[in-house]
Amino acid sequence: IAKGYKVAICEQMEDPALAKGLVDRDIIRIVTPGTVIDASMLEEGKNNFIAAVCRTGSGAGACFCDISTGEVSATAFSGRDWQEHLFNELGRFAPREAVLDTAAWEDVELREFLRLRLDCRCENGGEARFRYEAALPLVQKQFRTGLDSLPPEEQACVQCAGGLLSYLYETQKTDLSHIAALTCYTAGQFMELDLNARQTLELTETLRGKEKKGSLLWVLDKTRTAMGRRLIRGWMERPLLSPVQINRRQQAVSDLVEDIITREEVVLCLKEITDLERLIGRVVYGTAGGRDLAALSAGLGRLPRLRELLEGCPSALIQSLRREMDDLPQLRALLSSALVDEPPFSVREGKFIRPGYSEEVDRLRNVIDHGAEMLADLETRTKEQTGIKNMKVSYNKVFGYYIEVAKSQTGLVPPDWARKQTTVNAERYISQELKDLEHTILSAQDKVVALEYQLFCQLKEQTCAHVAQIQKAAAAVAQVDVLTSFAVVAAVNGYCMPQVDGSDSLSISEGRHPVVEKVLPAGTPFVPNDTHMDSGEDLCAIITGPNMAGKSTYMRQVALIVLMAQMGSFVPARSARIGVVDRVFTRIGASDDLSSGQSTFMVEMNEVAGLLKNATARSLLILDEIGRGTSTYDGMAIARAVLEYCADRKRLGAKTLFATHYHELTALEGEIPGVKNYNIAAKKRGNDLIFLRKIVRGGADQSYGIEVAKLAGVPDRVIRRARTILEELESGSGVLPAGGPSYT
Ligand code: ATP
Repeated sequence: IAKGYKVAICEQMEDPALAKGLVDRDIIRIVTPGTVIDASMLEEGKNNFIAAVCRTGSGAGACFCDISTGEVSATAFSGRDWQEHLFNELGRFAPREAVLDTAAWEDVELREFLRLRLDCRCENGGEARFRYEAALPLVQKQFRTGLDSLPPEEQACVQCAGGLLSYLYETQKTDLSHIAALTCYTAGQFMELDLNARQTLELTETLRGKEKKGSLLWVLDKTRTAMGRRLIRGWMERPLLSPVQINRRQQAVSDLVEDIITREEVVLCLKEITDLERLIGRVVYGTAGGRDLAALSAGLGRLPRLRELLEGCPSALIQSLRREMDDLPQLRALLSSALVDEPPFSVREGKFIRPGYSEEVDRLRNVIDHGAEMLADLETRTKEQTGIKNMKVSYNKVFGYYIEVAKSQTGLVPPDWARKQTTVNAERYISQELKDLEHTILSAQDKVVALEYQLFCQLKEQTCAHVAQIQKAAAAVAQVDVLTSFAVVAAVNGYCMPQVDGSDSLSISEGRHPVVEKVLPAGTPFVPNDTHMDSGEDLCAIITGPNMAGKSTYMRQVALIVLMAQMGSFVPARSARIGVVDRVFTRIGASDDLSSGQSTFMVEMNEVAGLLKNATARSLLILDEIGRGTSTYDGMAIARAVLEYCADRKRLGAKTLFATHYHELTALEGEIPGVKNYNIAAKKRGNDLIFLRKIVRGGADQSYGIEVAKLAGVPDRVIRRARTILEELESGSGVLPAGGPSYT
C-alpha cells in the first residue's frame, strides 16, 4: 500500500462446517493508500486524506476526506485561475490517493502534479459516479450536516463528494456513518499558500531533509493529543483572514499564557486523552476491539477534568469549546461496567467482559472453571440416588462422557440410561443428566466466546449512537490542545501577542526568526530586527548585504511572523502590528525541480510568473535574488522590471521584500515611490568579515563574496586569484586579465 498498490481482502462468507460444497467467498474490503484505517499504518499526528477531483464546465470540484477521523470537506474552483487554486488545495491536503473523473484523468498536468510533486496515487474514477444526478442521492443520504451551507450553484461540491462516496462504498463495503459532517468552504475564508511557499518557508518540514525538526511546526507543536497534532498542521497550512476570528484565538492563547497554573494542569490533562477521533472511526468502521472501546471510554473520562480546569478562562472561544466537550457519562458507565480493565487484543477469543455484567457469561465461565467439580458432584449424587457403589464418570474421545458400572451392579442401573459400550468387566452408560452436563461443558467455551462477541457488538452499536457527540468533543479537545500549545510556546520563548487588524500595517519591533533562534549554537545570540512596511512610503524593501549576512533569514522571519499571527499564535517579537495579508508568495533559493524536466532558471521564472499573476495589493512577497540564474545583465534587467511592477500601485503595489546582490538596484530608492534600501550590516576587519546581523537603512556597497568563499574554505590560491580578478574588474578594464587561466 505504501507503494501505491491496492490490496483486496477476501474472506469466507459462511461457516465452512455448515457450507454445502464450495465455501462461498467474497471480497470484503479493498485497502488503498487513501483508505487505510489500521493504526499501525497511519501516522498518529497526520491526517491521511483521499481526494476526488472532477472537472466542470468552468473549473473543477474537489472533495477531501480522512476516513480514519471522519472529516470531509469539499470546494469548487472557477474563474480564470481555477487550476492554480486547485493545485494549491491539493498541495495543502497532500492526499495519498485521488479519484479523478474522466476529464481530470485526461489532464496530464494535473496527474503529473499529483504523482510527482505530491507522491499521490491516481485512480481513474470514470464518468458515471460524478454525474450530479448520481451523486446527489448519495450525498443526501450520507451527510447529516453541511448541505445547508452549500450554495446552490456549487454543484461541483456535490459531484465530487458523491463521486468520492461511491468509490468508498465500492472499496470499503462497510458502515461509514462517522463520515457525516460535510464542510463546504469557499476560497476567501483562509489564506491560500501555494506548494512552493509552504515548502520554502519550511512550515511543516525542512526543504532538504523533509524532516519536522527544523520546521516551524517543530517549534510550535507542543500538542499533547493525536487530535491536536493533526489539527495544528491544519491551522498552519491555512492561516485565517478574518481579524475577528484571529482575535478569538489570540484571546484564548493569552488567557493560557497568563495563567501558568491552569496551563500546566491542562497540559497534564491533555496528555491522558486518547485519540477519540480515530477510535470512534474504528468503532463505526467495525475494526475496533475491546481495547479501543476501553481507550475511548478512558479518553472521555478525562473531559470533566478538562472542562473544570478551563472553567475560569475568560476567553469566549475556550468557553464555547468547553460546551462541546460532552463526556457521555452514561456511555462511559456502560463501557466500564462491561469491559475488563485491560481487554485482550482480539474480540474473537473472549475474556474481555467484566464479571457481573452478564449473568449468562458468568454462568458459562463458571461451567468452564468448575467442569470437573460438577462431574464429581454428579457422580456422588448418582451413586446416592441409584445405590450403585462401583461406578465412575469418565471420558473418552470416541464416546465422550459416560458412566462406567461394574458388571456385578448393572442390575441397579435405572431404565432410562442408554448403554453405550461393553467392556470385559463393566458396562458404560449415558444418562440424560450427564448428556446435558457434557453438552454444557463442551459448548460453554464456544458459547462464551460467541456471547462475549455478541455483547461487544451491542456495546459498539451503543457507542456508535454517540458518534456525532464524540466527534464534536474530539474537535473541541483538538482546538484546546493547539491553543495550549501556542500558549506554551509563547511563554517559553518570550513571544508577544501581535495586534492583528485590517490595516495596511506590517510593523514588527525586535522580530526574530522562530526556528533559527532555536538552532544557533550555544553562546551565539540571535540578533532581533525591526520591520516597518505599509502601502505608502514603505512598500518595498530592497535588501542588500554580504553573502551569509542574514538576508534570507530576515525575509523568512517576516513571512513567518505574519503567518504565525494569522494562525492565532503569538509571535517572536517585542511587539507587532499586522494588517492581515491575503497571501504570502515566495521566490527563494533554487528549488530545482529536475524531475519535471525544467532547468533551474526556468523553475525560477515559472514561480515569478505565477506570483506576479496571482498576487494582490494585500499580498506579501518575499523575493530572494531574482534573476541570478542567468547572465548578469539579463538577470539585473529582469530583477529591476519585477521590482518596478511590484512597487507600482497601478499594477500590483504589494508589500515586497527583495534581496539582491545587484547593488545597482539600490539606485531605485528615490526614483520609484515606496522603495527603500536596507542592508544587513557587516564589518570588515583586515581580511576578515564580521557579521553584525542588524538590518539598517541604506544600500550595501559590497558583496564580500570572496571573504565568504574564504570562510567556506576555498583554497587560498583560488581566493588570491579571485582578488586579483576582482581588482582588475573594478579598475574598469572590463576584460579578464591575462596571467591566469582564461575562460571562454
Ligand atoms: P546569501 O546571500 O549567501 O544567501 P544570506 O544573507 O541570505 O546569505 P542567511 O542564509 O540568511 O544569509 O544567514 C546565514 C546564517 O546567519 C544563518 O544560517 C544564521 O545562522 C545566521 N543568522 C542570520 N540572521 C541572524 C540573526 N539575526 N542573528 C543571529 N544569526 C543570524
